[in-house]
Amino acid sequence: MTASDWKKILKQLENKPEVRAKFIKHCKPKDRKIGIAAKKCERCGRYGAHIKSYGLNLCRHCFREVAVEIGFTKYN
Ligand SMILES: [Zn+2]
Repeated sequence: MTASDWKKILKQLENKPEVRAKFIKHCKPKDRKIGIAAKKCERCGRYGAHIKSYGLNLCRHCFREVAVEIGFTKYN
C-alpha cells in the first residue's frame, strides 16, 4: 500500500484509537523520496501521469482542465 492513499485506513480506525496508534507505529508506509509514490497531483491526489514541468505538479487530467486558466494555449 504505497501508491494508494493509505490515510483512508485512518478514517476507518477513528473509533479504535489503540488500533489506530498501533497501525501508525508499525504499518504506516514510509515517505518516499523516489518512485511513483513520491509525486502526487496537488489538485486531485492522483499518482499517475504527473507533470512537474514549470512547477505545475499536476496530473494530466487536471492539467487539461486548468491549462487555459493558467495561460497555456493549444497550437494545433
Ligand atoms: Zn489531478
